[in-house]
Amino acid sequence: MNASSSRPSRTPSTTASTTAPGPARPRCRCGTDRTNRAASPEREYSLAGACYLLWGGTSVPTRVRFRCIFCGNVFDECTDRASLRAYIT
Ligand SMILES: [Zn+2]
Repeated sequence: MNASSSRPSRTPSTTASTTAPGPARPRCRCGTDRTNRAASPEREYSLAGACYLLWGGTSVPTRVRFRCIFCGNVFDECTDRASLRAYIT
């Protein structure tokens, strides 16, 4: 008799379905999003950041709002530091 019934260990096939739709960027009613040329960034600095600017230094804004130049609406803003670094003056 063959006592050793070695079964092949089945590995459960993990179907990693990464169907992330991606972060939907807010748009204004004209269809302008933050990457559009019609979006004018408005930088907002903290008090310390504003002082640095006055002294001729560079500072990362604490918040950037995106205003559409067509309708004048602020439709988006970003506050994360990684994105704000792109708006250092
Ligand atoms: Zn607009």
